[in-house]
Amino acid sequence: MKADSAVQRQLLELAKVDAELSRVEHRRRTLPELAQIEDAEKLVREHRDTRVSTQTAASDLDREIARQEKEIESVRAREDRDRKLMESGSVQAKQMNDLQHELDTLARRQSALEDDLLELMERREALELDGQRTGAELDKAEQALADAGRRRDEAVADLDTTQARRDEDRAKLVPRFPEPLLKLYERVRAQKGIGAALLRARRCGACQLELDRSTISEIKTAAEDEVVQCENCGAILVRTLESGL
Ligand SMILES: [Zn+2]
Repeated sequence: MKADSAVQRQLLELAKVDAELSRVEHRRRTLPELAQIEDAEKLVREHRDTRVSTQTAASDLDREIARQEKEIESVRAREDRDRKLMESGSVQAKQMNDLQHELDTLARRQSALEDDLLELMERREALELDGQRTGAELDKAEQALADAGRRRDEAVADLDTTQARRDEDRAKLVPRFPEPLLKLYERVRAQKGIGAALLRARRCGACQLELDRSTISEIKTAAEDEVVQCENCGAILVRTLESGL
């Protein structure tokens, strides 16, 4: 293939633009914010799950506490009734005895119920603290998630700006190349990532391979408008005064 050497040299500009576009693309996929967002989302989910189970445990305990209080209340009512009956002076000695016995039993029961209630309330208090701690951690994780999202959006906006500029540059450059040369460039670029590079100090600027003596002498004797490709990576080797031929 032949192409004017000045046109070939302009391939270096196109390659530079494309290299930047590739960097933008790579950066888009590897933004550190993406991993940060993933981590933060995981943390938020975990804290939310913890919050749900803490809330469930708390409402279970609340029900248990209410039941316990009701039970204590009914024992107390029964004690009042017994006591009133004893004070009324209307009961016989035997019944007095029974009532006293019942009051003793009720007092023991009351005390056991109160101990249980105390324990339930302590557990409820601990859950309350757990809930507060989880809430604070969740707030923190949600904040971190929002921050990472904002940083990601800013980074993406920067990348969008760079990409738009380079796309513009590219659109201006592309019409300068004859169709077959551009096709070759695009094909090599699609396969190897770099379509054209400067030949400098006998090295391919794309794959950095040092060309052997015979290849160099072939390139030396090739016409200026001959399109030369790297035998290793296929990149169009652009020759300039820097090539050291
Ligand atoms: Zn090469």
